[in-house]
Amino acid sequence: MKIAVVGGGPGALYFAISAKLRDAGHEITILERDQPGATYGWGVVYWDDLLDTLYVNDSESARKLRAASVLWQQQEVRLRRERTAYYPGYGYSVGRAAMLDILARRASDLGVDIRYRHEVDDLSAFADADVVVGADGASSRVRQLHGGFGTTTTSGANPYIWLGTDKVFDSFVFAFQETPAGLVWCHAYPSSSGISTFIVECQQRTWDGLGFGTMSSEDGVRTLEKIFADVLGGGSLISESRGRPARWLHFAEVRNAHWYQDNVVLLGDAAHTTHFTIGSGTRLAIIDAIDLAQALYEHPESVPLALREYEKQRRRPMNRSQAAARSSMAWYEHADRYTDRDGVAFAAAMAARQGPLPPWRHQVHNAEQLAPVRTVHRWYETGRRFYLARKRGEPLRSPAPRSAPEPPAAEVPDQHARTTTPWRAQSAEPERLVGASARRDGRAGK
Ligand SMILES: Cc1cc2nc3c(=O)[nH]c(=O)nc-3n(C[C@H](O)[C@H](O)[C@H](O)COP(=O)(O)OP(=O)(O)OC[C@H]3O[C@@H](n4cnc5c(N)ncnc54)[C@H](O)[C@@H]3O)c2cc1C
Repeated sequence: MKIAVVGGGPGALYFAISAKLRDAGHEITILERDQPGATYGWGVVYWDDLLDTLYVNDSESARKLRAASVLWQQQEVRLRRERTAYYPGYGYSVGRAAMLDILARRASDLGVDIRYRHEVDDLSAFADADVVVGADGASSRVRQLHGGFGTTTTSGANPYIWLGTDKVFDSFVFAFQETPAGLVWCHAYPSSSGISTFIVECQQRTWDGLGFGTMSSEDGVRTLEKIFADVLGGGSLISESRGRPARWLHFAEVRNAHWYQDNVVLLGDAAHTTHFTIGSGTRLAIIDAIDLAQALYEHPESVPLALREYEKQRRRPMNRSQAAARSSMAWYEHADRYTDRDGVAFAAAMAARQGPLPPWRHQVHNAEQLAPVRTVHRWYETGRRFYLARKRGEPLRSPAPRSAPEPPAAEVPDQHARTTTPWRAQSAEPERLVGASARRDGRAGK
């Protein structure tokens, strides 16, 4: 099949990898407007469920992604510099640029033609393509150019900015700082060696009151450094997005009544977005990518059938994820309603943003504020993490070096024939509903 993919983000690259692994005969071209290495944002968090999925689909890129990721083993909530509240539970984070580099190399090795600095503004060049994949993000140009997807975009109320910092966090930290204009908070976590991610969010009236709208981006960053001085501990904030200063944005929730029209199909953020406080957009784009590749593999005789099947598989779980993301976003939009309580109770309210916690969960949350309880919990989680890593075939001691020998032939997908073990990503979907109340790991944030 001749496949044109617009966008070179994680969804596009992982689709190309997955499609090539299933049928090496596909002719796939990716068109990305930016140059290699230019991207927005910093670290992307994910959990074991994504690693399980990646290892089954393509152990080679999975190993490299895991090797480029950092592990964080605790979440901390700090309200107005009061006593810190803790949630146990671990996750991983990988720098977005490193992730794109790994996926782009893998796609190129499989024979995908990636063309950078190629902005698509007209779909007529793809007249001879069997399938056109719009993987060009939340503001998808493909969606606009082709039309007919029934797109709705709803803007979130809070401004946010996606920054980096040279302060190295080893936990996931939510710090809510009081200012004369209201609360400003960060979602901070390690991303790669020496750099952490620092997303700042506040209510619109706080943003207006602090004067961010009239400040230069440089002054805005210096103001944030002052507000978060104790959290940054002398570290600096780094503002960069595609080589320019990062901007304050409002989250845009994108929904589409149809995910495909004719032979044009949407995936990832072009098809749907989920608020960043559930930390799932990249994972969902990757699952779309696998399912689209699988649907094309299963229905090579009929592209419309394949696209229908893909949408059918993905829509229901996506509806659930978007509903969860809306609840999470709404909680942060009204975070000031919960500041009348102490830090531990505030953290419990945050954990319950997907729905009320049963009484026993409150008791567990209170117990987890005691260091010995957290230590025991961490031992348990470490054991579980090793068990899961072993189960999926992850090297346990150190990540495989670049020059490591290839895995045995049986593990290497035959790149010249369709895979004999078709596999669907959504087999692991139910566990992905986020929110502390729904999770055994007590995850509160992303
Ligand atoms: C603050 C923040 C934090 C986040 N944190 C996480 C997280 O921790 N975990 C997680 O899983 N997700 C996270 N996400 C979500 C995640 O970033 C997205 O869901 C994910 O990047 C979607 O991947 P994608 O490939 O669909 O689109 P994108 O990553 O947006 O890629 C689209 C690509 O298309 C290119 N493009 C656009 N238009 C054109 C055009 N006309 N021609 C050619 N190329 C074009 C763009 O340059 C871009 O490279 C976060 C999002 C935000 C905003």
